[in-house]
Amino acid sequence: MSAILTFLLATVFTANQGTIVRMTIPDEAGVKSMMLTWETHHAPFAKVADKWETVVGVDLDTKAGDHEGEVAVTFSDGHVDKRPVTFRVAAVKFPTTELKVDDQYVELSPANLARANRETKELEAIYAKMTPEILWTKPFRVPIPGETKGSNFGHRRVFNGQPRAPHSGSDLKASTGTPIHATNRGRVVLAKNLFFTGNTVILDHGLGIYTIYAHLSKIDVKLADTVSEGQLLGLAGATGRVTGPHLHWAARIQGARVDPFSLLSIE
Ligand SMILES: [Zn+2]
Repeated sequence: MSAILTFLLATVFTANQGTIVRMTIPDEAGVKSMMLTWETHHAPFAKVADKWETVVGVDLDTKAGDHEGEVAVTFSDGHVDKRPVTFRVAAVKFPTTELKVDDQYVELSPANLARANRETKELEAIYAKMTPEILWTKPFRVPIPGETKGSNFGHRRVFNGQPRAPHSGSDLKASTGTPIHATNRGRVVLAKNLFFTGNTVILDHGLGIYTIYAHLSKIDVKLADTVSEGQLLGLAGATGRVTGPHLHWAARIQGARVDPFSLLSIE
């Protein structure tokens, strides 16, 4: 599901579409900062004890094959070492699912279309922001204790006969009122009703990692709150474009849509 590798010299990282790559580099004398760049993506490293660490998101639609990148290592005397890295992305065969939802979520009224477009821009602006430090404190966990797997991440979807964007999260079984907990420590960067995802909470965990909790019946946190790992965020429900109550749990990493279950491998 995800790749956890230790960075040594010229390095190839392998990952499936829609998962993460965790990179760890031992500290060296005089290193001030490290930044990974590959194509349009940037991921800063954070120093943890005697190592530098980052987590890289590989979007579910990233082309399979090799993608070249580099780690820029900046030293306190100002010089910068550039070290090449390769991301070897393996294709995943995502199934197609057909769904039947309320017509208003497929044939959008002009007002709903304007709202949905505005909210898409708002979300893209959130995911583009980069908090350069690690805000999480513990291993990531599933937001419904006891649930061990979700379903349908990456599925190509057809709503009422019309193709739509792939499913960018994982759906967890939940009845209305099921308590939903923060997957890890983070800051609330959105807590409100959105057209498609209904009552929605988004947490910023740092290093460009965001988790999303959607279709809630009730939200129990507010914008700018810092929540601890396991804190109650709200209750599951069936708000927005749904076929019934469940939790839609999703993750964005430096903008990439990844299976939130990949986060469980991060300590
Ligand atoms: Zn979903």
